Amino acid sequence: MTKQVVLASHNAHKLEELRRILEPLVPGIELIGYDGPEPVENGVTFQENALIKARAAAAHTGLPAIADDSGIAIDVLGGSPGIFSARWGGPARSDTANVDLLLWQLSDLADEHRAASFMCSAALALPAIGDADGEEVAVLEAWPGSVLRAPAGEGGFGYDPIFQPDGLAKSAAELTVAEKDAMSHRRRAFTALANEMLARLSE
Ligand code: IMP
Repeated sequence: MTKQVVLASHNAHKLEELRRILEPLVPGIELIGYDGPEPVENGVTFQENALIKARAAAAHTGLPAIADDSGIAIDVLGGSPGIFSARWGGPARSDTANVDLLLWQLSDLADEHRAASFMCSAALALPAIGDADGEEVAVLEAWPGSVLRAPAGEGGFGYDPIFQPDGLAKSAAELTVAEKDAMSHRRRAFTALANEMLARLSE
């Protein structure tokens, strides 16, 4: 029997990406979109923000819900932009402004000081039963790499053109969708979450 799970995101591309990643790992689930209210993301960690989104969608729909929260963490900046990745370059939330500010901030640094990771937390929230809060869990995974000196590649989005994954000689924006899907921070986080889903959704 198919078990519906809500993805707590209004982003249709994310729904497609996570269907590709999760449906083979968790047989019997059908990932569906969400158009309910979006909560204020006032957590201070990726895990807190992923849980806030998953919890809100589970409460609104009465179905198990999953969510993610992601960003880039630069070692020399102590993990920033982190949860502020989407708005690092100002309130316009422009990818170009975000990338330009980060490149300028790191411009004097030698290559060995440009280490960074894409981070992703994936969360699962089950709906409340009666007075009992629903069970919930969040995982956090990293995709390690470094920040290039200039953007490269036309694919991807956000910080992809300036992120070079460890072990590759190209940016994340020069990977095919399938290549990025196979190794990304989202792939790693949702692979870890799949184990939690298998344990909790079969009960
Ligand atoms: P969200 O959690 O998907 O909203 O992502 C927050 C921000 O992190 C985005 O606006 C991007 O700037 C950045 N980000 C997250 N994942 C990626 C990625 O796979 N590539 C490039 N940038 C990303």
